[in-house]
Amino acid sequence: MAEAAVPLSNDTQPAFPLVGAPRDALRARLAELGVPDRQVGMRASQLWNWLYVRGATDFGAMTNLSKAARADFAHHLTIARPEIIDEQHSSDGTVKWLIRFAPGAEAEAVYIPEADRGTLCISSQVGCTLNCTFCHTGTQRLVRNLTAGEIVSQLLIAKDRLGEWALQAEAKGQGRRLITNIVFMGMGEPLYNFANVRDAVHILSDPEGLSISKRRITLSTAGVVPEIPRAGQEMGVMLAISLHGVTDEVRNRLVPLNKKYPIAELMAACRAYPGLSNAKRITFEYVMLKGVNDSEADARKLVRLLEGIPAKINLIPFNPWPDALYDCSDWETIETFADIVNRAGYASPVRTPRGRDIMAACGQLKSASQKQRASARRAIAPAGLDAGTGKVRQTAAH
Ligand code: SAH
Repeated sequence: MAEAAVPLSNDTQPAFPLVGAPRDALRARLAELGVPDRQVGMRASQLWNWLYVRGATDFGAMTNLSKAARADFAHHLTIARPEIIDEQHSSDGTVKWLIRFAPGAEAEAVYIPEADRGTLCISSQVGCTLNCTFCHTGTQRLVRNLTAGEIVSQLLIAKDRLGEWALQAEAKGQGRRLITNIVFMGMGEPLYNFANVRDAVHILSDPEGLSISKRRITLSTAGVVPEIPRAGQEMGVMLAISLHGVTDEVRNRLVPLNKKYPIAELMAACRAYPGLSNAKRITFEYVMLKGVNDSEADARKLVRLLEGIPAKINLIPFNPWPDALYDCSDWETIETFADIVNRAGYASPVRTPRGRDIMAACGQLKSASQKQRASARRAIAPAGLDAGTGKVRQTAAH
């Protein structure tokens, strides 16, 4: 098909990052670049397909675009991946990547293969504001929110490194997927980065692109109550709540955000979560801390709290990190706790810690990124994705 030459736009504009741009923003940018109106929709779809179905990292590969269009897009748009700083392999198959989005802005993503699924755990912020006392990330201050593009890029990078694009393309679309589920359970509080997380969710779940069903995307929150209804309405994802305590006294100590949004308000928001049903249950995460929240009375109180909420409970054995103030509950204690919850009719799988040997398990993520002074922060603000994917250092421990 003949391709209209695309006139160059103003050269002083920084390259526009395509990954993470909502479709309408992408179309608007193409129109600004001089793509004729009648072609904008088609060009946007072509780019979308290259980015999110074929995993292109280079405009040169986009063979259904004319050479002139490829060169012009390469000049004005960027699809560079953020840089992988480190890749570690656990003996259990878990893989953890440390990703540098910009100088001084690093966060981690973790791939957890299981028999019936593959889950990618992604970060929504560099650092965190919440200071949960049992969480390693909580000891790192917030550096900044990740952009929608930086959030989506974590999936693109994982697919690159796992070789999933090629597997998916195999045998005329009958190919395999390694990553079937996404959890926002990496670094940061996703509901404190609402707009970017929402835009990312729309791209991750787009049926003509990455196509991860919203039923397989779980957003975990420490309980930012006012944003919970919006998450249901505007994202429609599965919800997980980091509960961890059944009285305000204990939960205030573990999750200081509870002082702002106490348990009763949190439970009310859960009961009202849009789309909640037996098929779309809320997951309650509960970290088992020895002598703190693991008694039989706590288990019974938990059951009473959840009454009327379609729920499942994830009991997470505490994952230790250097200088942590807590110990993991004994195995018998965890089993007794799980039994009480199970007998009340709730599924309560004890989550097998994954990737502990590479500090990739729940709550162990932390990057060396430090909060900068405002002036320095502006310098690393997310104007676009950092260019270049340097060589990946393998610290494999298979
Ligand atoms: N801020 C969000 C997203 C982080 S999810 C939230 O709080 O839900 C990370 C999950 O791991 C949370 O449930 C968190 O409470 C849990 N976690 C944190 N530190 C942990 C640790 N040391 N051991 C086990 N789980 C931990």
